[in-house]
Amino acid sequence: MYYPEELIEEIRVQNDIVDVISSHVQLNKKGNAYFGLCPFHNEKTPSFAVNSDKQMYYCFGCGAGGNVYTFVMEYENFSFVEAIKYLADRVHITLPTVEVPDEVKRKMDFKHLLLDINKSAARYFYYQLKSDKGKNALNYLNKRGISEETQKKFGLGYSNIFRNDLYRYLSEKYDDKALAESGLVIPEKKVQGEFFDRFFNRVMFPIFDVHNRVIGFGGRILSDSNPKYLNSPETKLFDKSRNLYGLNFARSSRKDSIIIVEGYMDVISLFQAGITNVVASLGTAFTMEQAALLKRYTNNVIMSYDSDGAGIKATLRAIPILKSKGLSVRVLRVEQYKDPDEYIKNKGSEAFNKLLDKAIPSFMFEIEELGNKYNLDDPASRTKFQDEVATKLLGLENELERDNYMEAISKKYNTKKQLLEKVVNEKGKNTGIVTTQKEVKYVKKNNNIDDGITLAQRSILILIANSYDIYKVVKKYLDISEFSNEVYQKVAKEVYETYDNKGKIEPAVIINKFIELEHQNMVARLFNNKVSFENKMQLEKIINDSVRLIKSYNIDINSRVINDTSELQKLILAKRELQVLHISLNDG
Ligand SMILES: [Zn+2]
Repeated sequence: MYYPEELIEEIRVQNDIVDVISSHVQLNKKGNAYFGLCPFHNEKTPSFAVNSDKQMYYCFGCGAGGNVYTFVMEYENFSFVEAIKYLADRVHITLPTVEVPDEVKRKMDFKHLLLDINKSAARYFYYQLKSDKGKNALNYLNKRGISEETQKKFGLGYSNIFRNDLYRYLSEKYDDKALAESGLVIPEKKVQGEFFDRFFNRVMFPIFDVHNRVIGFGGRILSDSNPKYLNSPETKLFDKSRNLYGLNFARSSRKDSIIIVEGYMDVISLFQAGITNVVASLGTAFTMEQAALLKRYTNNVIMSYDSDGAGIKATLRAIPILKSKGLSVRVLRVEQYKDPDEYIKNKGSEAFNKLLDKAIPSFMFEIEELGNKYNLDDPASRTKFQDEVATKLLGLENELERDNYMEAISKKYNTKKQLLEKVVNEKGKNTGIVTTQKEVKYVKKNNNIDDGITLAQRSILILIANSYDIYKVVKKYLDISEFSNEVYQKVAKEVYETYDNKGKIEPAVIINKFIELEHQNMVARLFNNKVSFENKMQLEKIINDSVRLIKSYNIDINSRVINDTSELQKLILAKRELQVLHISLNDG
């Protein structure tokens, strides 16, 4: 950080969070908190709370939260330094001019350096598109009906036909090592120390994260060569499985669902037609992480992949993943057209909106696709189909839901409902659960093991943050280093130290210790939570269970890296002691 901590703190104190936020979000007072519609996700009833005592905000819907710096960073898309400047200016504090020493520059967090490189590259590509060299690319975009305004909104650009143009441009500002890590350039095999551009002669689509930062690129070739689409490789910044193209816009579109499409062009075309709640899955199979990400912003998704066989297959694969995260899934078929992009260009947004209303529940989609595999006019084939349908129906745990689908299916396929019901019930006696369901459950269970440790750390942190007395007891048993989650460990360090020095903590001050927006959100989530318990006995049990879990997890981790038998014996002993550990709240 270039500015002294005291100054950063002074600026924070002078910028009252209710003042700052209420100039962007309409807030209503309820008790000692203020509530409003969250600017970071779509909602109709307010779950965005601003707490004046704690000088924090928190959204119970999407988990956005932090102090006044976090808000400005998240809302205005500022870096931490930009947020400091903005808020200092707001309360007329003059910042000292600080020369950033080269050393600091070099040490600047690598992730921020990569963000900077991506931003520069995006600007460069945009400039190329508007220059003479970009004529073909511009023609291409015009032909596809992408307006100038939309090009700007999505930061579209062009990588020209020269082999190392971007490299030459970027290497004036950044060193080779950083550039290689950005994935934008590739080392020459034959000439050591030379690089060529990953993208050339392509229309460039910057990929943004939810905070509108460029984390990677997709490029579409303008010639006939292959591959047609090329993405940035995985970098320290860009993890395809954890991002969705367009989510930065879709998350604040104020609709109660999000549409998932396959390609960049689908997102852009729909957006241009006024349908802004769209994301694309970046050319990979849909992942658990992407589903979890979506769940932060909506409960309902509508899948609208390409209408070809590959698109249908990908849809069928994504459905159980989305459902396992508790999302309600519908499927939209753009029949007679290749993809949503083509559909909206031919039929317009009104027709697309009508089609949206007709999106079918994912279960019906699965049944329909199953039906397409069989010749339903042939009795033998039809029987097999009905048998498979019965198996799928059995997978539905909710009886009412199962009954409704039996009704719908029997109507659609002209089968007697009672008969279908009978087959389902007989199957139920023999089999139990269907295989695909088992797979999803297994993954869920795996997640829970990790979550258990995280949850224990979180519970302890929440409890000690809310009570100095509990802290005094817990600190005797739990060392800072035993918090395995990196962010939680840092929070623990701040909480322990502040309590020991001052006897009380201020959440907004602790949030300041984190530069990353994601981390600030996480810390805010901690300080806004309460662990619920009915009486002291139950509270003691929560503390004991959590501490025991955290300690035993650490012992297990340590035992994996130890070769020495006497060390191992110590661990075994520690584990045995853990079994009889009892923390009493009267110890404090
Ligand atoms: Zn929210």
